Amino acid sequence: MKRASDQRLRRILVIDDNEAIHDDFRKTLSRKSLGPDLDDDEALLFGYQPAETPPTEFEINAASQGHLGLELVEAAMREGRPYQLAFVDMRMPPGWDGVETISRLWEADPALQVVICTAYSDYSWDQIVSKLGTTDQLLILKKPFDDAEVCQLAFAMTEKWLVTQQAGIKMGEMESLVDRRTAELREMALHDMLTGLPNRLFFNDLLARTIALHGRDPRRMFAVLFLDFDRFKIVNDSLGHQIGDKLLISIAARLRGVLRKADFVASMADGTAARVGGDEFLVLLDGMKQQHEAIRVAERLLSVMAEPYEVDDHTIKSTVSIGVTTSALPYASPDEMIRDADTAMYRAKAAGKNRFVVFDSRMHENVLARLAMENDLRLAVDDDQLRLVYQPIVSLESGCVRGFEALVRWQHPTKGVVSPLDFIPLAEEIGMIVAIGEWVLREACLELARWRSLPDLGDLCVSVNLSRKQLVCPNLVERINDIIQQAGLPTSAIKLEITENAIMEDMDHAVTILNQIRDLGIDLHIDDFGTGYSSLSCLHRFPVVGIKIDRSFINNVTDNPDYAAVVNAIVTLAKNLRLGLIAEGVETVDQMSMLRDMGCDLAQGYYFQRPLPSDQALVYAQSQAGMNSGMRLHESNSGASKPSLLH
Ligand code: C2E
Ligand code: MG
Ligand code: MG
Repeated sequence: MKRASDQRLRRILVIDDNEAIHDDFRKTLSRKSLGPDLDDDEALLFGYQPAETPPTEFEINAASQGHLGLELVEAAMREGRPYQLAFVDMRMPPGWDGVETISRLWEADPALQVVICTAYSDYSWDQIVSKLGTTDQLLILKKPFDDAEVCQLAFAMTEKWLVTQQAGIKMGEMESLVDRRTAELREMALHDMLTGLPNRLFFNDLLARTIALHGRDPRRMFAVLFLDFDRFKIVNDSLGHQIGDKLLISIAARLRGVLRKADFVASMADGTAARVGGDEFLVLLDGMKQQHEAIRVAERLLSVMAEPYEVDDHTIKSTVSIGVTTSALPYASPDEMIRDADTAMYRAKAAGKNRFVVFDSRMHENVLARLAMENDLRLAVDDDQLRLVYQPIVSLESGCVRGFEALVRWQHPTKGVVSPLDFIPLAEEIGMIVAIGEWVLREACLELARWRSLPDLGDLCVSVNLSRKQLVCPNLVERINDIIQQAGLPTSAIKLEITENAIMEDMDHAVTILNQIRDLGIDLHIDDFGTGYSSLSCLHRFPVVGIKIDRSFINNVTDNPDYAAVVNAIVTLAKNLRLGLIAEGVETVDQMSMLRDMGCDLAQGYYFQRPLPSDQALVYAQSQAGMNSGMRLHESNSGASKPSLLH
């Protein structure tokens, strides 16, 4: 057991008008043996080892009147060496009596322990209590004094003072520890540990308060800016997370710098930045006088954030995309406002990054429409809302149909027919494209198998479009093979079309998959050729049998010589690489004859036929088969047909 007090020197004040009494106290309390004797008694009583510490020593001061005693107590307090105990005589004419003195002493030093010394009872205990209040700091000592009693009181009361004081110190320490920890936890809960910026919780709270203030005073305008770094992921992946972290710290420092120096904002708007995701930051600009101040801050952020960052030995360049929304729109909650800033930020990214976009409410409608569409699309396959239409692919030389391209349509329950241009990108984004792609292939295979069982149509082929997202689907090749087999078709009956951009996204992977598809015996075509960014030098690496010239070239081929030259070059290139050619989107007779003269083999377009529902496509194919053996659809001098791309 540890002693409550290590303090051996204890200060005692004696206030008595009889100075002889002062000496009695000094004598009694200066006995050297006092401490150890008492310590030993305590040891016996409380069971701890006798202390080896030196004996308790008392420093005795004395005063002969209450007010003089008070002066000593006050001085002791000022020096920071307070008395632990005062022995106060009850009667001290002509000055204050004991009770008066004690109440004054406690005003100066509320912790002072007091023993009141009485010869006979001037006051009853009840009277004393009624004057001084109920207290455990006061004991009565009756005259004549007993030495042992004085010693015990002196020791016990000073000890009590020390113990109380130490408990007070401990308590204070505990309280400040609790306060400190609470502050730390609060800091952690509301701040991002890496950058020290406020986090989303903090930001939401601040924004909620700002929205409420704006409700009371609409002249007080504010804005939220959503920042997303354009190249952060690349930095993280290529240089590692440590560098990524350091970059984020520098970004945070710059943000703080820009917002601190918000003096370029005329009205001295208040800026707070928060980190709310990997490389996502929010800025709240509060107290703007005009909405366009937010634009100035966005412009400034764009330029400051785009300056190269020096991290360790690396110079990192990264621009930022910013979405802005302001209190010009009636926001009721932080979530709505952050959501809109986020939407605008995505617009900024989609528009080419390194820019800001200000949110407008139409965007919100678009977002809602998209969400609704997304939900509907998830049901489309299961609810049997997809259809295929078939567009003939025709030989330019003979005018004979050589096959069909299967094109998907979505029969939306309320919106009517939705074009693939409007839902394929969404399906790619939400992953539905895999299910849709399988449905299309299966449906096309089953239809084609029916057609091929009819007279003269035994070698008809169908082309199916393959999305770039299907290329990364792990069991794609196996699935394609299964579906074709299940329909009872030879793999040569199905052609697949893939855009050049889809191949270029991850060329090595794409080439591997395309080789596997080719090895199944399926012909591949590059779709929309000329619109992508494949370099002509890679073309020979792609295991394809033909290319489809994009309709944007065909559109202009007759009235723009530049386009004609490009198409001519593509035709020459295809011939040299022994690739078949299909011209897409042929709409006029002039386009048709020009392409034929250039030496293009096949064509597809409204000039020949629009995409047709399956029953009409079949009728078309049958009429063509009939013509094949006698009449011709288009005047042509050819009897010997060229080797077909599609058969
Ligand atoms: P694509 O594969 O290049 O298909 C050709 C598109 O051109 C079709 O549009 C077709 O209707 C249209 N077209 C044909 N002839 C003409 C013409 O003379 N003039 C004009 N202006 N257009 C013509 P569609 O059916 O709207 O398909 C658009 C795109 O959607 C397709 O382009 C293809 O990339 C994608 N797509 C269509 N169906 C599927 C599918 O089943 N799966 C996948 N992954 N994508 C599909
Ligand atoms: Mg196509
Ligand atoms: Mg195309």
